[in-house]
Amino acid sequence: MNLRNRLYRFMQGRNGVDALSVFLNRLSFGCLIGAILFTFLSVLFLRREATTASTVFQVLYFIAYGIGIILLVLWFFRVFSKNVAKRQAENTRHLYRMQKLRRKWASVKQQWKDRKTYKYFRCPQCRQKIRAPRHKGKIRVTCSKCSHIFITKT
Ligand SMILES: [Zn+2]
Repeated sequence: MNLRNRLYRFMQGRNGVDALSVFLNRLSFGCLIGAILFTFLSVLFLRREATTASTVFQVLYFIAYGIGIILLVLWFFRVFSKNVAKRQAENTRHLYRMQKLRRKWASVKQQWKDRKTYKYFRCPQCRQKIRAPRHKGKIRVTCSKCSHIFITKT
């Protein structure tokens, strides 16, 4: 049996690489790069005899390195796990969270782009986000979600 077949056999019934694993892998990589950076800074400050700063970066190095290794272990655990149903549920939750985060980020970007033409505020009753054109003075707003009526300045 060649290596490829053996690998295929080995991976059968296991979770394999999914979106959450890729995410963990990148996060782990980021932490390890951070750890290298912190070591570099620690040595740099030590050479300048700034021992406190050097110690701080040494601690940061250990934290970043530790988290990086933990994430890598998690990655291995997820890829080779045989509890596929549970791993898939985790992956679905991860995708959902990412989607929510992307939507939030898009909304923040849009709000920043519109900041001169639109005022953004929340309904005082249900917290629904509402926008209105700026420079219209005091306006009466009816919430699109709960129909609450309130006055606001634009
Ligand atoms: Zn409302």
